[in-house]
Amino acid sequence: TTFTTPPLDAHLISNIELARYAVPTPVQKYSIPIVGAGRDLMACAQTGSGKTGGFLFPVLSELFLKGPIAEDTRSRKAHPSVLILAPTRELVSQIYDEAKKFAYRSWVRPAVAYGGADIGAQLRQIDRGCDLLVATPGRLVDLIERARVSLSNIKYLVLDEADRMLDMGFEPQIRRIVEQEDMPGVQGRVTLMFSATFPRDIQYLARDFLKDYIFLSV
Ligand code: AMP
Repeated sequence: TTFTTPPLDAHLISNIELARYAVPTPVQKYSIPIVGAGRDLMACAQTGSGKTGGFLFPVLSELFLKGPIAEDTRSRKAHPSVLILAPTRELVSQIYDEAKKFAYRSWVRPAVAYGGADIGAQLRQIDRGCDLLVATPGRLVDLIERARVSLSNIKYLVLDEADRMLDMGFEPQIRRIVEQEDMPGVQGRVTLMFSATFPRDIQYLARDFLKDYIFLSV
């Protein structure tokens, strides 16, 4: 198995080669065709399984193939196409670093936002352009309240380490984000959820946020 079967966008493959990834990990191997087919996914995968590539590769591949959508230049708000939620500053920073690596020399501009740090620099980055936003739930609620981020263009919603986000008490913020009036409904977006475990509260979240999803356990 390589990154060309099933096919990924050629520019993404060149960035994967720059990162010296030779073969997909199991979670990547299975997630790429599932997301490529436009299906929602509930994946049980541990840290270290390559789960970041498991969502970034198929999502970036689809974005590169489709190309940028026309931007409303009158709007001062960011309109990302991809929203990735994760529990901690460390994790969102790691995902952001991977997103920069694999979006290299493309039109996709990643941005990052997390709490416990000055919001000014994060706002300036978002204002420079943001197609893919990686955020902790609390800081994203803040950005939405400040009317600096709109979710109306979201095509892909990713919840990474969903079990840890619930353990940290983020369920109200997550529900508030997913139920924002400008967030496309479950039929209008692709939703990918990753979790190390699959307890009852994660099953309920999957029932509420995903549609007819494929369950993957690696
Ligand atoms: P993750 O589980 O996404 O945190 O990834 C764990 C580590 O594996 C990270 O350091 C990645 O850079 C690395 N990695 C992910 N996918 C691959 C791959 N297909 N080949 C080699 N290394 C990888």
